Amino acid sequence: MKSGKQRKLEIKSARLRRTTRIQSSPSPLSVDVYSSGIVWCDTTRLARRISYGAPAFIERGYYVDIAFRCRDCGVECVWTATQQKWWYEVAQGNVETTAVRCRPCRIKERERKSQARRMQQEGLQKKQAADDQ
Ligand SMILES: [Zn+2]
Repeated sequence: MKSGKQRKLEIKSARLRRTTRIQSSPSPLSVDVYSSGIVWCDTTRLARRISYGAPAFIERGYYVDIAFRCRDCGVECVWTATQQKWWYEVAQGNVETTAVRCRPCRIKERERKSQARRMQQEGLQKKQAADDQ
């Protein structure tokens, strides 16, 4: 019959073996994803499920860098796989939308939109003030 101490040692070494096996076996996602411009897609985090015609990145299961031309200034830019993952899975962007503007134009566009919103609100306030009189 084994002593309690021996039994404990056996459990401990078995546990140790298990941990080392987990650490040494490469996970399927440990392919050099970041350096190759490929980022795996986590479909459970996407904004909404679509009934048909899934975008390429969903069918493929991963994002790849996409080269595109800016809609406003025409400059060639790259929408990186990492940026796409952030847009769809963190910012909850619509899965059918893609980048259309370079970064400087995107910032300009955002400012233009917020200014338009501000002017609209100011216009509404003026109108309300006029109505109150
Ligand atoms: Zn641009």
